Amino acid sequence: MTTVGILGAGQLGRMLALAGYPLGLRFRFFATAADEPAADLGPCDVGAYDCAADLQRFAATADVVTYEFENVPAAAAACIARRTTVFPPPAALAVAQDRMREKRFLQGLRLPTAPFATADTAAELTSALAAVGLPAVLKRRRLGYDGGGQLHLRCGADAAAAWHQLGGEPLVVEGLVRFRRELSIIAVRSRAGQVAAYPLIETRHVDGILRSALAPAPDVTPDVEAAATDYATRILLALGYVGALTVELFETENGLVVNELAPRVHNSGHWTIEGAHTSQFENHLRAILGWPLGSTEPLGCSALVNLIGVAPPAAPILALRDTHLHLYGKLPRARRKLGHITIRAPRPALLHDRLRTVEHLVADATTRPQ
Ligand code: AMP
Repeated sequence: MTTVGILGAGQLGRMLALAGYPLGLRFRFFATAADEPAADLGPCDVGAYDCAADLQRFAATADVVTYEFENVPAAAAACIARRTTVFPPPAALAVAQDRMREKRFLQGLRLPTAPFATADTAAELTSALAAVGLPAVLKRRRLGYDGGGQLHLRCGADAAAAWHQLGGEPLVVEGLVRFRRELSIIAVRSRAGQVAAYPLIETRHVDGILRSALAPAPDVTPDVEAAATDYATRILLALGYVGALTVELFETENGLVVNELAPRVHNSGHWTIEGAHTSQFENHLRAILGWPLGSTEPLGCSALVNLIGVAPPAAPILALRDTHLHLYGKLPRARRKLGHITIRAPRPALLHDRLRTVEHLVADATTRPQ
């Protein structure tokens, strides 16, 4: 039996295991704490990412190792790679972990990004803003996600206040992109070099956190779809990538702009579990195991609603047709992703009716006193 080792034991690890068990795979997780969402789905080795002995012990138990969050230290992934196969390649982690490195990589591929400049010192912040212009966004180069570690700058006074809050660590300034909407594309590359992409997904964020998504994204022209697939394919090839990769995009008047990369399965792709021929989780596993990829074609249209901070009562959701509730077994906490709901329909109009019903149930739970 093949054992897949997963660095991290959050909900993405849990959904990878749920996709892999029907294929006869075994799973083992590596995490810094035992009470993570995936810990019920396989043995969980508790260890430290800076302890070579912990990492090597874990590596010895797995035929292939992958990761479910991009902040796995690149050195830890490289340490495991000395003992067993690791996909996606640790070099892809290193690119995606540092926003500056990521932007330079994208620039090297001639892919459009927001204008950007480093702001590691107060003097650099001033020159970065002169180069990039206002309004802008000041972001941590490392360890920022779900909109954390970033501040919007509209005037010089904002810049001084933002420096007070974030200054002293590696930062990047990005020009504010005036987008029509946000999109993402998830593409997969197998060990044999086969590439498959899911259709573009429309993503809606509140306070930097993904709240909902529509798939396929409505009203996408063939040119835009082709450009997104081309960007993702070029990124996969340039990184010698194996596995699922997500490209977060802004759709603007002048075409697509790349926001950032996630070298893993992605929240915006959870609809693929019920809404595509093969889920992003199964295709990630197929890719890293050297198996043929499954079809990425959608089954009708789907919507995804994230359950953030509170989850609605299950019964009214379960009573709805073509509506699928996923709970990650986490305790409620502000801004925490506790689960998601996928809604399917054969036509967009019906999807929107069903989505409205679900959004009302979720909003009721959010406003009810806890
Ligand atoms: P990120 O963590 O970089 O994905 O940013 C979180 C969210 O902030 C994005 O999904 C956008 O809604 C917004 N955002 C980030 N960077 C920019 C930018 N340069 N221009 C406009 N909006 C941005």
